[in-house]
Amino acid sequence: MDEIPFNRPYATGGELALIQDAMSRGHLAGDGFYTKRARQLLTDLTGGESVLLTTSCTHALEMTALLLRLGEGDEVIMPSFTFVSCANAFVLRGARPVFVDIKRKTHNIDESQIERAITDRTRAIVVVHYAGAGCEMDQIMAIAERHGVTVIEDNAHGLGGRIHGQTLGAMGAMSTLSFHETKNIQCGEGGALVLNRPEFVERAEIIREKGTNRSRFFRGQVDKYTWVDAGSSYLPSEVLAAFLVAQLERFDDIQSQRMHVWRTYSQELAQWADDSGFELPVYEPDVGHPAHIFWVLASDLEQRTRFIKHMAEVGVKCVFHYVPLHSSPMGQKYPTSGQLSVTDDVSSRLVRLPLFAGMRNSELEQILAAVQSFR
Ligand SMILES: *Cc1c(COP(=O)(O)O)cnc(C)c1O
Repeated sequence: MDEIPFNRPYATGGELALIQDAMSRGHLAGDGFYTKRARQLLTDLTGGESVLLTTSCTHALEMTALLLRLGEGDEVIMPSFTFVSCANAFVLRGARPVFVDIKRKTHNIDESQIERAITDRTRAIVVVHYAGAGCEMDQIMAIAERHGVTVIEDNAHGLGGRIHGQTLGAMGAMSTLSFHETKNIQCGEGGALVLNRPEFVERAEIIREKGTNRSRFFRGQVDKYTWVDAGSSYLPSEVLAAFLVAQLERFDDIQSQRMHVWRTYSQELAQWADDSGFELPVYEPDVGHPAHIFWVLASDLEQRTRFIKHMAEVGVKCVFHYVPLHSSPMGQKYPTSGQLSVTDDVSSRLVRLPLFAGMRNSELEQILAAVQSFR
């Protein structure tokens, strides 16, 4: 039997035709026909005031730091159980991440521990909707409002997800998306910055276009464009935007394929988990997650190590994440708010099963049998 990869980047089959069309339009730099189309599709999905395609979620996060003019002495609260880009975006500007623990059930930042991490230097709170199971945004937004800090949603996992009826990525002042090949909707490398407050839109366009007012020039709002602020180049080419549009046009189909795999794991592995001491994700009914991650929690690190080895031996690649940022060589330089005991515990026990659109039924069955043969 062939080895089943952890992720196989899904292609809808429509990508090449759209790339060909982009080429025939004679405009391959950013912000052409396909970027506009992708923006429209993403605006419909997210309800954002303005959606800017970026070269990655990492770059979208960097843009949030520039937009908020963060720098030396500023603090940004975030979970330690997340991807490095959350912290790097702010560290690059001289600001300090302050790491807060996560919750057991969702692995999201523990909203009950945010307030005590706030100081007079706190400027922002970055939340990550882990696996697309939404954070408690009502409470987090209320805390942020009380202290005058900005909320950024790292929504790399959560496009299309909902919590208590609200769309993920639409509640903070801004949110970020990733179209890396490991995400639900992908173009190899790509991302977006979703702005939910009109006051950020004009400067975000400038930051993304090398600090120039080129976007206003193209709309005919100024008669020449020039350097007006600090900025960089965060716009993807039309080649990538065309690929992305092919994926976004099939959003519902991709999501339902992923949800089928997620639900099958959830149903078919429940008994095995009970028998072998593993935990599976169980969410509250009004958590509408978009099937980004299916995780299982082993009873301890030793069992997880054995599980990953067993799966590899029977031809199924499984991976774990995240190495908590506060325990990494770089992250040790920054403060934590209290003990991060749930982060340490969950990160030592979590494993992700393969989850991708386009998974064949035979593969899904092979994975189920592989898991169930682990004792
Ligand atoms: C994937 C991911 C990122 C980074 O996305 P890129 O597009 O690869 O830069 C950031 N945050 C989270 C939570 C992610 O999962």
